[in-house]
Amino acid sequence: MVETIENYRAHAGNILAAYGGFSPRVLEAMRIVERHKFVPDRMVPMAYDDMPLPIGFGQTISQPFIVALMTHLLEPEPDHTVLEIGTGSGYQAAVLSPLVKTVCTIEIITGLGEIAAKRLSQLGYDNVQTKIADGYFGWPECGPFDGIVVTAASDHVPPPLLEQLNPGGRMVIPVGGRFSIQHLTLIEKDKAGAVTTYQLLPVRFVPFTRGVR
Ligand code: SAH
Repeated sequence: MVETIENYRAHAGNILAAYGGFSPRVLEAMRIVERHKFVPDRMVPMAYDDMPLPIGFGQTISQPFIVALMTHLLEPEPDHTVLEIGTGSGYQAAVLSPLVKTVCTIEIITGLGEIAAKRLSQLGYDNVQTKIADGYFGWPECGPFDGIVVTAASDHVPPPLLEQLNPGGRMVIPVGGRFSIQHLTLIEKDKAGAVTTYQLLPVRFVPFTRGVR
């Protein structure tokens, strides 16, 4: 198991090196957001371990390294509006909050979305807008978006999300099925609207589901 983790880290490390190492802004956001406030009470002792943790409803808060990597790949800027699909605990939205102008985040499980919305507002993440819906369709009224981060694995990139991405924008999404290999995928839309896709590294995310529940 340790060997697997080490191999994974080596691979992820290469990707990160290729993308210039974590930006100081992203590292600062990771430092200031208190992950223990986003996990259930019994998970608090593990909140700062580099691993995913259960958050109820069969879902997980992502591993911190992956949150940092996805945030870094978005290249967030202070004037950006970004969309997150899969609010979950609200942690990824909280990490993005100090880095951009507005975060719009959508969760499909009503119970999780409600808890996260309350938590984000109580913690003062005032530039985060939350919504309970199927994120497949994006959120045109909140966009268009300079960055889109999807935190559940889909077998394809939802076309509405690509449409709502600004020219010059970036999307980070795990692509793959529930039982097949998923790849963290970076999609760049250039100024002319042409799209380039990069498969970065194998990952394991909860599935992208359809239908609010
Ligand atoms: N970003 C979250 C990670 C949560 S796990 C965090 O920082 O805690 C991924 C989440 O995506 C789950 O809560 C799951 O319910 C949600 N999800 C899955 N399919 C979705 C969809 N179609 N629209 C919105 N959310 C979805």
